[in-house]
Parts: sequence; structure tokens; C-alpha cells
Amino acid sequence: MDATQAKKSFSAGEIIMRQGEKGKCAYIIEEGQVEILLERPDGAQLSVATRGPGSIIGEMAIVDDAPRTATVRAVKDCRMLEISRDDFAQRLKTADPVIQMISQVILTRYRDMLARVEQLGDTTQTTSDAPPPETREQTVAGQSDVLESVRIANMFKEALANKELQLYYQPIIDLQNGHVAGFEALMRWPHPEQGFISPGLFIPIAENSGQIVAASQWALRESCAALQRIENALGQNGRLYMSINFASPDFDEPDFVPNLISALEHHHLQPAQLKLEITERLLIQQPEIAKEKLQACRNLGMGVSIDDFGTGYSSLSYLYYFPIETLKIDQSFIRALEEDERSRELVRSIIGLGRSMGMNVTAEGVEGQNEAAILRDLGCDSAQGYYFARPMPEDKIIAMLSDWQPGQMCTG
Ligand code: C2E
Ligand code: CA
Ligand code: CA
Repeated sequence: MDATQAKKSFSAGEIIMRQGEKGKCAYIIEEGQVEILLERPDGAQLSVATRGPGSIIGEMAIVDDAPRTATVRAVKDCRMLEISRDDFAQRLKTADPVIQMISQVILTRYRDMLARVEQLGDTTQTTSDAPPPETREQTVAGQSDVLESVRIANMFKEALANKELQLYYQPIIDLQNGHVAGFEALMRWPHPEQGFISPGLFIPIAENSGQIVAASQWALRESCAALQRIENALGQNGRLYMSINFASPDFDEPDFVPNLISALEHHHLQPAQLKLEITERLLIQQPEIAKEKLQACRNLGMGVSIDDFGTGYSSLSYLYYFPIETLKIDQSFIRALEEDERSRELVRSIIGLGRSMGMNVTAEGVEGQNEAAILRDLGCDSAQGYYFARPMPEDKIIAMLSDWQPGQMCTG
């Protein structure tokens, strides 16, 4: 038995779950018998079925967070195996992306059908009891969102297979000497008809459908190859770094760390030339696996940056727990730096915190000269943003850096 699958007992007559209440688990009946009851709006209960050993009850609540659609009561003493939503979510996460999407679609349709049946039943009794039209609209809207995600996930998979994805590189500037210290690799998806599709749209879908893993591996190899070519073109080997965004599903891959090492070796790069950008969310979601893999990366000499720092979790204790090298201050704090005294204090505190813990601090989204000057005066190590350079393709990076002067600004 899995640790997350507990045994539960219910006595005859006991209510196991109640219609309308939220549930966090399903049950497999091992012994006994239950009765499924539908509660009408007038309070009357209608017994619609009985279930015995081998049946599953409450399965919908482990796929989504909607309330139970029926009440279940034990009619004989029962022994059940409890399946928690977390356990199910874990299994679903590692399932084929198409299975993930289809299970969501089936569930949404099933709930929609139940709502319609209920509406029909209510209409035959009294029309005033019918569920409000917006409930149905929300269900339909939810369903079309899911279908749209499936469509984008399929398009993304094709784009990846057809090598249509691109990487742009945004320079990260050392604020103390004005030199380019490295780059952040950012994915671009130029769609033949729709133009560039925003990463804000396709990255979360790629994460949820599991396709981010293949995309990240492509980004790793491609950006390491680009760094090698950029350094060769500039004749300055081993000085620049590449910062690559990784998502939660990437860390589930057993070959995650070996793949990083092999990309570095293949392109003759030093471990310190690779930085992993991850969010606080990832650390909180899977702390053990993240700690183990990040520590392995740090031991090898790679960098680890916390992206969007300050927007995530209030507890900062994780900064001690994880082997973090760099804090990237989220652009929302930089945006308000000039006008808002409190923002300035917050940024000052983050820089102080980073320094006292021996970490580097990078500011994101620097758009103006004043912001850059304030950050430099506050002791911020490095910065990236439209003020210095926009994300751009490799050839433009090489052209720009070929005659880069310290302190030069380029808007790409
Ligand atoms: P992020 O990691 O926080 O990346 C920084 C975002 O800020 C980028 O948006 C960049 O173009 C934008 N940016 C840079 N400087 C400025 C500035 O001065 N002003 C403003 N307003 N924006 C600036 P982008 O490229 O649209 O990417 C959005 C997000 O998509 C990224 O946020 C990241 O979370 C995700 N993403 C992009 N590429 C990848 C990737 O290869 N893998 C993964 N897992 N996520 C990625
Ligand atoms: Ca990032
Ligand atoms: Ca960021």
C-alpha cells in the first residue's frame, strides 16, 4: 500500500461524504456496502444506487475542486482505501499529457451534463429553482478554456518537433563595471499565422501538459551552443554565462543533472557559465527533489537564481535551506523604484539580505537610466532590462557585443 493511501472504516448508517461539500479524497470500497443519495433542493433525499466491494466513490473531487455531487452513506459496516487528491495529482502529473488533458475534458463535460440534468429536473418541477444561467456559462467557459489549452499544447508540440521555436538572449549587465556579464535565454514562438505567441501564454500550458521538459532540454542545448558561438565570435572564452529558466516538471527527470553536464561538456563551457533560473513556487512545490538536484548543480559549480524574487512566499526560511547563488528582484519592485520610497526601501532590503547571505542580486526589468543609477548606488550587482538591451537573437547579440563599450546602452 502507498503511504498516501490510508485505510478508513465507516459504521452502517454513517455519512461518508455529503452532497455540496468539498472533498479531498476518493474511496475504493474493500468491504461493505454504500448507498448513493441525491438531495433535492426541497431537502428530500432520493436513493439512486448502491455500491459494493471494488467500486470507487467520490472520484470527481480528486480531479477538481468542485463540491461532491451526491451524498454517500454506509448501509453496512465498510472498510475503504482512501485515495487523496495529492496522490492522484502526483500520478496525473507523471501521466501522458494527452491523458491529463482528456481527463480534464471528460470531467468538465460530465459536470456540465449533471448540471443540465439537474436543470431539466428542476424545470419540470418549478422553473424558479433552475440553476442560474451564469453557472452553466461558467462551466462552458471552463470547458472551452480546457479545449483551447489542448489546442495550444498540440500546436506547441508540433512547433517543437518542427524546430519552429527560437531563443532570444537578453544581456545581463554588471552594474559596477558596465560590462555584459551574461544572458538570459528566453523562448520565442513565431507562429506562421498568429505572429509571436507570448511566453506568458504558452509556457504555463507547456508546463501543465508536461511538454516543457522537452522544450527545456532543447533550450539547454541550443543556448549552450549559442554561448559557445558568441564567445568564439568575441574571442573571450569562459567569461560570459547563460541563465536558463527551468520549471517544476524538469526536476522530475532522472537525467536532469547529467543532461546539464553533458550540454556543458559538449560545448566546452565551464559549469560556472550555466545558471539555472527557478521560481520560489518550484522550491515550495517539491522541496526535497529541488534541494538534492540544486545542491548537485552547485557542487559542480553551476549557479542557481531565484526568479521573480519577492512575489512568492512570505517565509524566507527557504533561503537558508536551498543552495541559492543569486536573487533576481522582480520587475514590479523596479518599476516603482523612482517614485515610491517604500519600493526603494524594499529593494535596499533585498540587496542587503542577498549580500548578508553571500548571494548576488540581479534587478530585472530596468527601463530607465535613473533606475539603473539607483540600483548601482544601492549596491545591486547586475541588472537586465530594456534600458540596456531587449531580448534579441544570437546574430544581433554578436553584432552588438562586437563593439560594446562599458556603460553603453543598447535598446536592441
Ligand atoms: P521571466 O523569466 O521573468 O523573464 C523576464 C521577462 O521580462 C521576459 O519576458 C523579458 O522579455 C521581460 N523583460 C525584460 N526586460 C524588461 C523590461 O525592461 N521591461 C519589461 N516590461 N519586460 C522586460 P518574456 O520573454 O515574455 O517571458 C515571460 C516569461 O515566460 C518569463 O518570465 C519566464 O517565466 C517564461 N519563459 C520565457 N522563456 C522561458 C523558457 O525558456 N523556459 C521557461 N520555463 N520559461 C520561460
Ligand atoms: Ca527568468
Ligand atoms: Ca523574472
